[in-house]
Amino acid sequence: MIQIKTPHDIEEYRAAGSLSKAALRLAGTLVKPGVSTLEIDRAVEGFIRLHGGTPAFKGYGGFPGSICASPNESIVHGIPSNTMFLNDGDIISIDTGATVNGWVGDNAWTFYVGNPSEEVKALCEVTRDCLKAAIEQAKPGNRLGDIGFAVQSLAESHGYGVVREYVGHGVGRSMHEDPNVPNYGKKGRGVKLQAGMIIAIEPMITLGLPSNHVLPNGWTVNTDDGLPAAHYENTIAITEDGPVILTADEEGPWCPMQGGAKE
Ligand code: MG
Repeated sequence: MIQIKTPHDIEEYRAAGSLSKAALRLAGTLVKPGVSTLEIDRAVEGFIRLHGGTPAFKGYGGFPGSICASPNESIVHGIPSNTMFLNDGDIISIDTGATVNGWVGDNAWTFYVGNPSEEVKALCEVTRDCLKAAIEQAKPGNRLGDIGFAVQSLAESHGYGVVREYVGHGVGRSMHEDPNVPNYGKKGRGVKLQAGMIIAIEPMITLGLPSNHVLPNGWTVNTDDGLPAAHYENTIAITEDGPVILTADEEGPWCPMQGGAKE
């Protein structure tokens, strides 16, 4: 069942969205060659707790991390590790979520580690643009298929793959609520969007084929062909005035692409 939020709920949600973005921004500044993904996880957890939140992912379904850290061929749900170090030329999707006053924030960004190839940077830029195009469709009267179509049509026009098994979702007092928000679809099809819906939109786009598998750790999702994937996510409210991005801090809703970038 889709839970419609009041304008007051949406205002209350902003603290969770803002802290989730600030945590993601912090994570991005730590993305450098030689850093372990667990170091980033620890810093993000400390930051979220210092600012009065709790890490939303920690313990969710037994997930051990405060962030998801998914480099290169990992699409989503990578487990932070003190033996996984970032290398020059990698990309890494980092997903951060903070719970504040019972509301759950959720956002993600794929950062460059040092200097990835132009081919991989283009994958990231197009995936970020897929997110932007999808958000533009998140307005009352449109349908979920309009969001999915925006992502799929842009990604496939570049020859990229669209992951089917993992999708965006409603979010609120729980991290995953109805409806599912697929990254594929047909214009004018699916659930009608209405003011008061809060949804996380998160394109997961692959350089090669989109088929994927879960690693034996039970979490990390990797591409079958071993080619890289990119993943960007914002949580937005659908309002009468159009989409409002709730995962935004004082700097806004977007992060630098370059890891380690000074703000
Ligand atoms: Mg999500």
